[in-house]
Amino acid sequence: MPDHVSQPRLLLRRLHSVMAGSGKPQDRLDRVVRVIAQNMVAEVCSIYLARAGSVLELFATEGLKEEAVHLTRLSVGEGLVGLVAERGLPLNLSEAPQHPRFAYRPETGEDIYHSFLGVPILRTGRVVGVLVVQNVASRRYKPEEVEALQTISMVIAELVASGELVDKKELTEDSGATGEPITLDGLALAGGVGAGVAVFHQPQVRITRTVADDIDEERTRLEDAIAEMRLQLEQMLEHPDLAHGGEHREVLETYRMFAYDQGWQEKMRDAVMSGLTAEAAVDRVQQENRMRMAKIRDPYLRERISDFDDLAVRLIRIIQGDTSSHRAKLTEDSVLIARTLGPAELMDYDRKYLKAIVLEEGSSTSHVTIIARAMGIAMIGRVTGLLTHVEPGEPVVVDSASGHAYVRPAEDVLESYKANLKLQEQLLAEYAAERDLAAETLDGEKVTLLMNAGLLVDLPSLDGTGAEGIGLFRTEFQFMVAPALPRVDEQTKVYAAAIEAAGDRPVVFRTLDIGGDKPVPFLPRDEEENPAMGWRAIRIALDRPALLRYQLRALLYAASGRTLHVMFPMIAEVAELRRCKSILNKELVRLKKYDKEPPADVKVGCMLEVPSLAWQMDLLVKEVDFLSIGTNDLMQFFFACDRSNPRLANRYDLLAPPVLSFLHGIVQKCHQAGVPVTLCGEMGGRPIEAMALVALGLRRLSISPTSVGPVKRMIRSLNLKALEGFVASNISSAEHSIRDKLIHFARDHNIKL
Ligand code: PEP
Ligand code: MG
Repeated sequence: MPDHVSQPRLLLRRLHSVMAGSGKPQDRLDRVVRVIAQNMVAEVCSIYLARAGSVLELFATEGLKEEAVHLTRLSVGEGLVGLVAERGLPLNLSEAPQHPRFAYRPETGEDIYHSFLGVPILRTGRVVGVLVVQNVASRRYKPEEVEALQTISMVIAELVASGELVDKKELTEDSGATGEPITLDGLALAGGVGAGVAVFHQPQVRITRTVADDIDEERTRLEDAIAEMRLQLEQMLEHPDLAHGGEHREVLETYRMFAYDQGWQEKMRDAVMSGLTAEAAVDRVQQENRMRMAKIRDPYLRERISDFDDLAVRLIRIIQGDTSSHRAKLTEDSVLIARTLGPAELMDYDRKYLKAIVLEEGSSTSHVTIIARAMGIAMIGRVTGLLTHVEPGEPVVVDSASGHAYVRPAEDVLESYKANLKLQEQLLAEYAAERDLAAETLDGEKVTLLMNAGLLVDLPSLDGTGAEGIGLFRTEFQFMVAPALPRVDEQTKVYAAAIEAAGDRPVVFRTLDIGGDKPVPFLPRDEEENPAMGWRAIRIALDRPALLRYQLRALLYAASGRTLHVMFPMIAEVAELRRCKSILNKELVRLKKYDKEPPADVKVGCMLEVPSLAWQMDLLVKEVDFLSIGTNDLMQFFFACDRSNPRLANRYDLLAPPVLSFLHGIVQKCHQAGVPVTLCGEMGGRPIEAMALVALGLRRLSISPTSVGPVKRMIRSLNLKALEGFVASNISSAEHSIRDKLIHFARDHNIKL
């Protein structure tokens, strides 16, 4: 190995001083390629930088023809340089011209060079350029040489990131950045429009110092940080909340495994020895890991990239002495960008500045979605490659109606966004003005609009929207965001606060609907083939009656002297409901025994969200004080269509004749028996669907707070008699959906949708 490669740190220092020196950026870059070529005994050293439109431009060269600089351009994926950018990995060839991707550019005169070594120049996980060395002789570069060039590329990345060579805005797209506006497609999760600067949920750490002043010191910084990271993980694992296993523990166990990974540490130590600072060494190794693992097909292994990422970020933070909260503090209108987000994490952000959320994952029924909806924050999910297309601080406009996120939006998009926002604000003002008006049709039919809630933050919406009560209080939210099983007194507190906030208005508490897609940290789960149809909700409650008993106890305490409305989720048969009622009775007996004041009245209901129950309506109505139709689940079982599968998202329509006649039958049975029936699924919150539901006889809808205004508006513009006849005449048609017909009807009859 030539001496210059064994002394990479000297080279790094030299490069660093060239780059930090005086002169125009281009002159400094020219000097950089000369120094590298000399030190690596290469006849050629070239730097290509990414420009807008996924193009790599030759920015500096030692060895290729001078006139090719700023003239030779390759698309990402084109030629060997384009291949390095596309894959984000080094390419080491002894016979470059024979490679199928070799693209000869006569202006460069590079056909005489046989060996080729190209490495990507990476900045926060994206390719911002390619660094190449070439030699006339045919040879394969040694691993040390490849490593050295990769380390050098980090130092060059620093110069690129300064924005002196290429405008920072151009350096934004994955594998060959572009600064052009792009439109990302996603699945609309929570309605509305929102705009602001991109804020990463786990902001990538910024490395400001790349080259070490003192290698020994950097080594110590790295070793100390590794020790500290391990200590932190051990402490977390010892935490009593984790004592009984569960998902949190599994994650931490995995982290711990990585934290002791010898290969990882060796690589980081080597990177420090090559002259990088400790933080740059961690980042450099992580960049390599990320690139390598991103090519892996296996989804489980790919997921592990993010584990490693988290760990690397944690380590860098420890090195940099950053002990502050990892949560970004919002200081201006912001769009939150994340791979996934938990409900509690969402609530940590300042609502005032949080205008929209874009996720790489996410589903329409996840709780973070429901919370975003309740908070009125526009959200889209399932945006492929999101994190590689946006840079922190870039402007983003989110329009849920179209499922689009506009990154670096063009002028016309901004204009139309502003118009939309104005419209949205105007509508909100109108809804607020109509807050105290009754939800009554033009021909005098009154509809009760209730709202869905689950956390204390939802409660102010009761007054804000004018909802007549809480038709569905999802008690599981408290359990999902808590690290450990909430104690009876903690549960009581939340329920009492909800009852208190509602005053005279009813609050319908639904007992725990956990499991399936609603994991809780304290309950170990088996992998299930079909979690939505698995061990969840009342099935867990009946198998673990203590959980249900404690919850019912908390509810009874909270409603002391008031009316308690309680309902059970996922009931599939009347016998199941009876078992729940007998557990409730036991708790009532216990209450008397301990001489506690019971609720003034206890109304018991259940959710109808499993189709089998609809075939026991005659028995069911005798068992309940009220019924609530949960169409979110009911419809996925009705159509045998997984609601969280994006491929099936638009396959069946809820305004299909079989859905309407099915719901109609249930509502009729309830009316005949005098049992109040509410629909509490998301469909009730969409004006066109709500219009059909009212025509089917539903007079109670429990919907997200943001839907109260639009649905009330629709109801107040409705002449029900004419609509009922229209829906009845279409309910047994063979069409896929009667949505279009209903939209036309609404238009012809001035119904405000
Ligand atoms: C439903 O299934 O319609 C429902 C309201 O319950 P959740 O969305 O909480 O499963
Ligand atoms: Mg449900």
